[in-house]
Amino acid sequence: LSASRTLWELAARRADLTPDRPVLLQDDRTLTFGDLCARAERVAAGLYDMGVRPGTVVAWQLPTRIETALLSFALARLGAVQSPVIPFYRDREVGFALRESKAEFFAVPGLWRGFDHTEMARRLGARGIFEAYDDLPDGDPAVLPAPPADGTRVRWIYWTSGTTSDPKGVLHTDRSLIAGGSCLAHALRLTPDDVGSMAFPYAHIAGPDYTVMLLLYGFPAVLFEQFALPDALAGYRRHGVTVAGGSTAFYSMFLTEQRRRPGERIIPTLRLLAGGGAPKPPEVYHAVVRELGVQLTHGYGMTEVPMITMGDPDDTVENLATTEGRPPEGMSVRIVDGEVRLKGEAVCQGYLDPSQTAQAFDADGYLRTGDLGHVTATGHLVLTGRLKDVIIRKGENISAKEIEDLLAAHPAVGDVAVIGLPDAERGERVCAVVEQPEGAEKLTLEAVTAHLRAEGLSPHKLPEQLEVVDALPRNETLRKVLKYKLRERYSGTVK
Ligand code: ATP
Ligand code: MG
Repeated sequence: LSASRTLWELAARRADLTPDRPVLLQDDRTLTFGDLCARAERVAAGLYDMGVRPGTVVAWQLPTRIETALLSFALARLGAVQSPVIPFYRDREVGFALRESKAEFFAVPGLWRGFDHTEMARRLGARGIFEAYDDLPDGDPAVLPAPPADGTRVRWIYWTSGTTSDPKGVLHTDRSLIAGGSCLAHALRLTPDDVGSMAFPYAHIAGPDYTVMLLLYGFPAVLFEQFALPDALAGYRRHGVTVAGGSTAFYSMFLTEQRRRPGERIIPTLRLLAGGGAPKPPEVYHAVVRELGVQLTHGYGMTEVPMITMGDPDDTVENLATTEGRPPEGMSVRIVDGEVRLKGEAVCQGYLDPSQTAQAFDADGYLRTGDLGHVTATGHLVLTGRLKDVIIRKGENISAKEIEDLLAAHPAVGDVAVIGLPDAERGERVCAVVEQPEGAEKLTLEAVTAHLRAEGLSPHKLPEQLEVVDALPRNETLRKVLKYKLRERYSGTVK
């Protein structure tokens, strides 16, 4: 199956093999592999009637639901170019994605979790807005042209977290996503009897990665529209989840819950936690294995390469606790001047902006990741930091620079540095450290968040802590703010 050229071909082959086995489980609903293809074909026909053709760019900002998977597979069936946008993004990111991708259609959930997405889409001047929450486009599959045959064309535009500057539109093909998912499946040593779960947005690059894994092995995953413990645990128990996937932040969620219920295994069927996307302190590894009684494997990925390395669950405790694992077959890792560089089938085609593509790849065709690391004698990758500055809060990467730029525009702000501080619950929390101009009114956290909200910053990026200082620490030569000094000073403080 992993030789399938396109995502649709992979889904269709799986549907032939095990049509009646479930692929997605949500609340009390079940979608089988057979349903996935049959229903996605009807949705594809409805989209075709609306004017979506092979190559048409369709953006979607939809929650993690069975319907979203159907819409995504329908677009894959048509050979459209799809651009998933994280559901809690607001005007700034969504407007950027729509403009840069030149999307001709935009699928939204309507009013979702108290926010009117349709209204935002109109405000942003989106083209071809349609709601796709419960009711999806529907039509007679007889109208459809043949499915796409070429898996090496760009059919996906994903958005990076915008840590260094504006987000970058990352171009993926069905082949690169299938390659990433195959590596993941192999690394995790899964079986058809497993039951997975997605504790991340389906619109994240990990969505197709995980789904490819389901198609290859023929086992199901549980979806959560709102992932929150302890409700999610009820879903895990009900469906007998054996392998749980999510970001680093969710390890501590599980640990906190487990500590609340000593003497009881909170997810009796769970055997493996598989996460990644952010640093994982070795203490967390040991606590998870000891207290939850499960294996933990952690991986390294990025929007450009959804799966770079993943720990082998059967590796030594030492390697699992302190490294990101070894690169899978087909992934070549090089360290140049301390920077991790990559080449392989799972690597993206480049960026929407060709000048960014030219800068991103070195003369040998290796992608510059911007991450610092080294490879141990046994071939395991260790990450040591980033060339750029990022805060990872609840598994979401947040650009310090974006918040700094917006805050600098506030009249009571002179200079500002935004940093991430270690936080037991969120992984990191956002802290703004501000120098005020002389005579300015004393700044409060309320005033800061009100200003950022008014600028359209997404709520998950709002600072949770404000520190007002006389002078920011700076280096002698370039007067650049020394953020590590601020991190040292404020780690362990909570305001
Ligand atoms: P931008 O590219 O727009 O500046 P970004 O790099 O933060 O933003 P993402 O693609 O969401 O956007 O994040 C990928 C980055 O997350 C990696 O390059 C790496 O720095 C970090 N990361 C991923 N996995 C791990 C891990 N296991 N340990 C430490 N950091 C990780
Ligand atoms: Mg990046």
